[in-house]
Order: sequence, then C-alpha cells, then structure tokens
Amino acid sequence: MNDLLPDQSPAWQYLEGKFRQLMASYGYSEMRMPIVEPSGLFSRGIGAGTDIVEKEMYTFADRNGESLSMRPEATAGCVRAAIQHGLLYNQVQRLWTSGPMFRYERPQKGRYRQFYQFSVESFGMAGADIDAELILLTARFWKELGLTEHVRLELNTLGTLEARQNYRSALVEYLTQYESELDEDSQRRLSINPMRILDSKDERTQEIVKGAPVLQDYLDDESREHFETLKCILDAAGVHYVVNPTLVRGLDYYSRTVFEWITDSLGAQGTVCGGGRYDALVELLGGKPTPAVGFAMGQERLVLLLETLNLIPDSVNKTIDVAVVTRGEGVSGRAMPVLESIRNRLPDLRMQVNCGGGFKGQMKRAYNSGAEFALIIGEDELAAGTVTIKPLTGDEPQQTMDVNAVIGYLQAK
Ligand code: ATP
Ligand code: MG
Repeated sequence: MNDLLPDQSPAWQYLEGKFRQLMASYGYSEMRMPIVEPSGLFSRGIGAGTDIVEKEMYTFADRNGESLSMRPEATAGCVRAAIQHGLLYNQVQRLWTSGPMFRYERPQKGRYRQFYQFSVESFGMAGADIDAELILLTARFWKELGLTEHVRLELNTLGTLEARQNYRSALVEYLTQYESELDEDSQRRLSINPMRILDSKDERTQEIVKGAPVLQDYLDDESREHFETLKCILDAAGVHYVVNPTLVRGLDYYSRTVFEWITDSLGAQGTVCGGGRYDALVELLGGKPTPAVGFAMGQERLVLLLETLNLIPDSVNKTIDVAVVTRGEGVSGRAMPVLESIRNRLPDLRMQVNCGGGFKGQMKRAYNSGAEFALIIGEDELAAGTVTIKPLTGDEPQQTMDVNAVIGYLQAK
C-alpha cells in the first residue's frame, strides 16, 4: 500500500481531471460507495472460485461478528447500491466511480495491495451499441492522454451463461483426461474455475490447452450476432482491435463481450483497462434481470505509463503562480489582508506566502517553487499600500505599484 506524496499528486489530479471531463462528456454520473461491504456480496457476485475471492480479499469480522471485506473491485458494490436505492426500475443508468480497491496480491511493479480504479458501469441497455460506447470512450481517453499508439484492444465474446456452462462441461471433460499432467494451480481450478486454466502460464498446461475445445464453437446465435454488431460499430468508428479467443477475464460475472486494453510499455503488468458485459449479475444479487456492461481502469498503471512515456505536460507540475516574499519582522502576517484582497479579485490565482525566513532564503524558495512571479512586500510597501512584483523568468524589470494595479497586471498575464 503506497503513500501518495506531494510531488506525485499533480499527475494523479491530471489523470482524474481528464477522466471526470470524459465522463461528463458522455453523460455519466458519479457514484461513491463504501469501501467495505458484507463478504457475501463479493463471493456471490465475483464468484467463490475466483482468485480474488479465494485468496486476495481483506476479510474481517466486525464487532458483531459479521464478515466484512474491503472491496476488491467496484462493480459488486455498485450493483448492490443501485438495487438498494431503486436506480434500476425501468430506467437506464450510466455511472462511474473512482477510488481505492484492496487485494492481497504479491506486490510488484504495477501491482499493489491498495490500488485505485476508475470504474464505469451502465445498466438497462442490452445492445452492442452500449458495449461500443464504453470502448469508444476509453479510446477517446487514450487519445486525450496521448496514449493511442501505446495501447491495443483485445476483444472476445463469452456467449450467454448457458453457452459458457456447456463449454465449461466440455472443457472439464477434456482436461480431466490430462489431470495429472496439469500444473498444481490448474488441477485445483479444474473443479472450481476451469476456464482460468486457459490462462495458465505453465508450459505443459499450455500444450494441453492447445488441444482443448474452443469457446467459439459453443456460442449461441444471439451472442454471435451481438459480437458481430459490436465489431461493425468499432470498425466504422476506426477503433482497431484484435479478437483474442482465450481472453476470459478473472471474474465470474461476465457474459458476452469482454475486452482489455493492454500496453507493452509496462512489462508484465500490461493490462490498463478491463471490462465486459455482465447481464446476470443484477439478478444474482437480488435485483430484477437487468443487462449491464462496464469496465475498470487501473490508475497506478496509467500514471506509471504516462510518466514512463513522458506524457505529463510540464504545466501539470506547476502548482504556484505567485510566491509572496516579505522583508521585515512580522510583515508576512500584516500583509495578509492585502493578499486576501488580491485573492478576492483573482480566485484562480495560485499564490503561496513564505512564512518565516530571511529575504534571501525566501527569494531562493520563490525561484525553486516554479512560480512565475514574486510579490515582494516590505515595511515601505505596507505603509504606502503598494507591492513590488518581480517576474522570476525573462528579463522584465520588477515594478512597484498599488494593489489595484498589481491585480490588473496579474490578470493581464
Ligand atoms: P490483472 O490481470 O492485471 O491482474 P485483473 O484481471 O485482476 O488484472 P481487474 O480486476 O479487471 O483486473 O482490474 C482492472 C484493472 O485494474 C487492471 O487491468 C489493472 O489495470 C488494475 N489492477 C488490478 N489489480 C491491480 C493491482 N493489484 N494493483 C494495481 N492495479 C491493479
Ligand atoms: Mg488480477
């Protein structure tokens, strides 16, 4: 779990700001859910046999003995909240949320035990058009961030839950013949989550998997059609993708469309966004049958990617416009009413006062702060109702002017 330090927060705020703008531009509304939920929500929603529920959740008993878990992802909690507050009765919803998730994983670059996700969920829309919208808005996000050339889209369809069940049976039947040759994890998964075996990194298991039945042969006609429509929309919109028939995603609730955005610039933890359709989840968690599709984006990986590729604009790291430098005992405090009157008129101005320290030290700090101007105030200025403004870059001279004039000057700049 990481501390986010002051020199890192501008990049995070940049990312968050861009995402907020993106969501507004597509008409999505923000939700904020609690960080803990009853453990049963996740075992029912995500699936008891998934890695997340089986071995990654932070679970504890509260003072009443109720089992609670720190959320490992946002979808289950969002569905719970949407059902609880009647957001799904005869209406569609386009929702987003952002916040920390918790998984007891082996920490490594791009993988942490507390990490942040943007999550987007849409409810009540069954067509491939909304699947496409979610993918198009992620593609737009990459464009906004300058990442288009650095990510690729993988796409698959899992069919209906029924088609998946049929496939699952065939897969288990096939793999059981080789049970003793599978790696240990895969042997265990054979009964609880056999489709994850397709993802195994073990060489012998991979060889066996090559001969396994493929999901594509078990798809129902409607899912096939849904997938074709989605691909047509993406083609028409000029979004490139690769169909990856082994893409299954790690959560049980997906049906039909699944997708991932992957980068090769981060090493092994290359998935920056993953999502898909989960038409059965709302009913499973106690609501009326409601089609749904969503995705989650890992914020650490995106910040890491932007930093690695040098894509964070310089202006983002500039957080101060004006550094106030004072000369004389107690002047900083007595100058504050003047500074407040400047702030009243220029609410967007980012102005930081040096409290304490000699004149020279304060000037040095002003230069180091990245501010464009120093506002110098001494006893003379205080008495005369003036300030001295000194540009910290370029070779414009410093000027002493009255407070109204300096407001005009800063406004013009
Ligand atoms: P991965 O295959 O990378 O483990 P996942 O299938 O577990 O991903 P999801 O649960 O769908 O991924 O989460 C969506 C995104 O959240 C991931 O693509 C990734 O960007 C991010 N993410 C997931 N787990 C972590 C983690 N432990 N630390 C940082 N980011 C994570
Ligand atoms: Mg994972």
